[in-house]
Amino acid sequence: MAKIPVAVLGATGTVGQHFVKLLLDHPWFELAALTASERSAGKRYEDVAKWYLSERVPEQVADIEVRPTEPKAVEDTKLLFSAMPAEEAAKIEPACAEAGFAVSSNSSNSRMDPDVPLIIPEVNPGHLKLIDVQKKQRGWDGYIVKNPNCTTIVLVLPLKPLLDEFGLRSVFVASMQALSGAGYTGVPSMAIEDNVIPFIAKEEDKAEGEPLKLLGELKGKSVVPAPIKVSASCHRVPVLDGHTIAIFAELGRQAGPEEVVEALEKFRAKPQELKLPSAPEQPVMVSPDDYMPQPRYARHAGSVPGMGVVVGRVREDPALKNGIKFIACGHNVIRGAAGAAVLNAELLKAEGYL
Ligand code: NAP
Repeated sequence: MAKIPVAVLGATGTVGQHFVKLLLDHPWFELAALTASERSAGKRYEDVAKWYLSERVPEQVADIEVRPTEPKAVEDTKLLFSAMPAEEAAKIEPACAEAGFAVSSNSSNSRMDPDVPLIIPEVNPGHLKLIDVQKKQRGWDGYIVKNPNCTTIVLVLPLKPLLDEFGLRSVFVASMQALSGAGYTGVPSMAIEDNVIPFIAKEEDKAEGEPLKLLGELKGKSVVPAPIKVSASCHRVPVLDGHTIAIFAELGRQAGPEEVVEALEKFRAKPQELKLPSAPEQPVMVSPDDYMPQPRYARHAGSVPGMGVVVGRVREDPALKNGIKFIACGHNVIRGAAGAAVLNAELLKAEGYL
């Protein structure tokens, strides 16, 4: 099978470099182009990448000339992975889709547009049907598919089996989010050292709104949001990678911690059935250790490292009706961003959209 040539838009940033790593030896996709802003275009990738990973810039890409981010600069590719700031993505992604590219995007713009599929392959693969609606309504040859916000993904993966098994009425969420979630220049070190910042702009809106679309039902040309209430409080903590979330859920029926653990552990979905290359064998793993999950360890979890979410401390919640509480932790840039978009693209390929 010939590999599909792909480009990474915003390749020099935090998410972009994870894309580069994940795509270098991908069995289906061939990394053919890297783009960034005008500041970086025309320069060697190694010279302009804001590299924060512990390994050096891979030698296969170090000398590649970064291209400008525009459709004609990536004409030799078919699929684009987008990791640009939302304001830039809002201009560039539609131009690329109009020009016929498939765009698998991380950026937060347009995630809630009715005709844009917002996808976690284990949760709502059927919502990909919105691609046909989008192409028809917008008159595009290509299309845009989004993955959710990093906190949303770590939250919704364990919520999905709970919804399916027990029903869900309301969910309260307190996040402890890693620095890499804000991008390379996002949080000044003087602000976060020895500190916790109790506000992340626009994050709570995403954590409260996106789960309802993901867990909602596709009816006709749009998704009817799930009838669940989500309340989120989001906080930045001095951790490099890995979002940790305390989750308090009011289930539709009474279920003890053992039943909840069983539901989480046995959860498998379409990516596992299809054996997609980036799908972990077990999307949600439960740790019996009271001191887990911790981001230092959980960020690499899963048979595909970084693609698993670890849950721990599953307990009854006496303050809620049918209440259950637990902690979830996952890699915000792999499962929550680059890996999420790569898994979405694998689903697109497996479902015949590429
Ligand atoms: P980042 O580290 O700041 O990187 C931004 C990238 O976009 C860089 O490659 C930058 O290129 C490029 N860029 C900036 N302005 C541009 C322009 N005008 N035209 C083309 N490219 C431009 O940000 P990030 O953390 O990787 O986040 C990227 C996107 O993913 C954001 O929308 C973010 O909200 C989303 N996201 C991030 C995470 C996460 O955990 N970090 C999780 C989920 C979603 P230069 O180097 O040339 O400036």
